[in-house]
Amino acid sequence: TRDFSSVAPKGSSIDGIRDIIAVASGKGGVGKSTTAVNLAIALAKTCQLKVGLLDADIYGPSIPTMMKLHGKPEVSEDLKMVPFENHGVRCMSIGFLVDKDAPIVWRGPMVMSALEKLTRGVTWGNLDVLVVDMPPGTGDAQLSVSQRLQLSGALIVSTPQDIALIDARRGANMFRKVEVPILGIIENMSCFKCPHCGEKSYIFGRGGAHQTAEEMDMEFLGEIPLEQDIRTGSDEGNPITISAPHSEAAKAYTEVAKKV
Ligand code: ADP
Repeated sequence: TRDFSSVAPKGSSIDGIRDIIAVASGKGGVGKSTTAVNLAIALAKTCQLKVGLLDADIYGPSIPTMMKLHGKPEVSEDLKMVPFENHGVRCMSIGFLVDKDAPIVWRGPMVMSALEKLTRGVTWGNLDVLVVDMPPGTGDAQLSVSQRLQLSGALIVSTPQDIALIDARRGANMFRKVEVPILGIIENMSCFKCPHCGEKSYIFGRGGAHQTAEEMDMEFLGEIPLEQDIRTGSDEGNPITISAPHSEAAKAYTEVAKKV
């Protein structure tokens, strides 16, 4: 992994955690959580790091399902929550604490206090890296996570579609404003490869993320195809980096993990 010492001299703001990396998107539904999960697994498996995964997507937590984890976390003697672990990654999510079907209708201050508990109120232990699945967008919650956690860097996920890329730029500019280094952009759902004939279709357009990366002076970290196995793996709690480690997608996630 990169040496962040020059850009983040203070290190992370949580005891025992060396670096905190945010996985962000300007828009929902582009594959931010899928990326966060597979990146965390790749960092743990391929890079042999001690990895945590924080689901900060307060209004739509999907890490419990994607990591096949459920139940209420145990509470330690010092009244902190003990994270769950699967696929070699320690996980914490608001999804463990609230009823699955209950709407989360919190306003700003409650979101902030929930995020505080989910970060500093957890017995993470020593971690090389904590991957944070950010809430989509560029509002209060995102700003506050970025500032309070002293992020070492942020990774932006976008589809090749113009409308997603516009929002990705917004996300990147938000991180720049709060002086969080941008590690690069990942293009998700880059192309669809027909399982029958192998022909590639560029459903959401082509080349846009490359261009955006160049224009915004960001590194282009890689592209992930649109693949049914990625979706089913996520839904079943068996992410593609576990279920098909030799697939094109899993290899791409591993490459991203090596780069960040
Ligand atoms: P976000 O966190 O940006 O809202 P998710 O990671 O939850 O997005 O992804 C949204 C949906 O798209 C999920 O059902 C997920 O399984 C699916 N998905 C994400 N990336 C891919 C991909 N590359 N191929 C197929 N399905 C994908």
